[in-house]
Amino acid sequence: MRKHIFNAGPCKLADPCLENTAKAVLELNNSGQSILEVSHRSKDFQAVMDEAVSLFREVLSIPDNYHVLFMGGGASTQFAMIPMNFLKTKAAYVNTGTWSKKAIDEAKLFGNVEVIASSQDKNYTYYPKGFKIPSDVDYLHITSNNTIRGTEIFEDLNAPVPLIADMSSDILSRPVDVSKYAMIYGGAQKNMGPAGVTFVIIRNDMIEKIADRVVPTMLRYSTHVEGESMYNTPPCVNIFAVKETLKWVKAMGGVKAMEKLAKERAEMLYAEIERNPLFRPTVEEGSRSRMNIPFIWAEGKEDLQEKFLDFAKVRNIVGLKGHRSVGGFRASTYNACTIDDVKALVKCMQDFEKEV
Ligand code: PMP
Repeated sequence: MRKHIFNAGPCKLADPCLENTAKAVLELNNSGQSILEVSHRSKDFQAVMDEAVSLFREVLSIPDNYHVLFMGGGASTQFAMIPMNFLKTKAAYVNTGTWSKKAIDEAKLFGNVEVIASSQDKNYTYYPKGFKIPSDVDYLHITSNNTIRGTEIFEDLNAPVPLIADMSSDILSRPVDVSKYAMIYGGAQKNMGPAGVTFVIIRNDMIEKIADRVVPTMLRYSTHVEGESMYNTPPCVNIFAVKETLKWVKAMGGVKAMEKLAKERAEMLYAEIERNPLFRPTVEEGSRSRMNIPFIWAEGKEDLQEKFLDFAKVRNIVGLKGHRSVGGFRASTYNACTIDDVKALVKCMQDFEKEV
């Protein structure tokens, strides 16, 4: 039986993505070869890549003056590539927790970093708003959804400098005005597909804004633009699964439909966290992520931790354990998480309340 999966990433993927990828692993399009065996230079794979790129463009309304790339290395490699390619003197970063801090640390290796806003003062339980963006920096970097702390910004900022966003954990969960960004990137392993492929949406002019330093070939954006994501062997099966996920998002009604469902799931779960006397939320209202919902025990109930996780497990609910740096619980409610999955979790919380 399929479980109610609340993992933070890798995470639940849509059934058609799993089914069609499984079929392609056995045989791709009557080619007599598996997607694992076929040459990345073959017509069959080129068609997969082209469809993945064009579906991404269509679903997220990516304007023509942006390149769409699929690469390896995860979002973590982008943390280094961004400053390597674009940091000439100074870059601005917003610090909203673990992932933005990692991005900041990499940037410091290549130049000056100005942290222009931070939610560290309150243990990253809110998303800073209304901060002033300097105009003398090479770019501004934000993490639009903080997977660990569960905070999210829903607004596409107006920045006077190139705006770069790590959208690893909220891509495809709402319509985005891509034209406000110089670059959007992320690891695919939440709303886009499986782990092992990284998406990059980059405005054409950024490729000409490269810093004057030696950058290894594989770490230059221009390499991947010129190679059309095939400078080296791409993660073929992962890209296939991304294509299937995008097909599913489109069939479901696109990012607007995803946003509606995301709101519904998050509201339902937050309502229970607020109501249930055993639990409490950690994130301030107005900053609450629709993708990652952390919650902790009400005071004095902490001893119930393992008991609740076991209680959930026998109800086929998995992936609730909070990140090791925060504790408590975190339910990740990405696109493929259904309303029924959330209902099962809410019912489990209510049954547990009756039991203890
Ligand atoms: N940024 C965010 C917001 C993330 O959630 C993660 C991974 N969970 C990363 C970056 C790192 O991604 P990767 O593991 O693909 O390097």
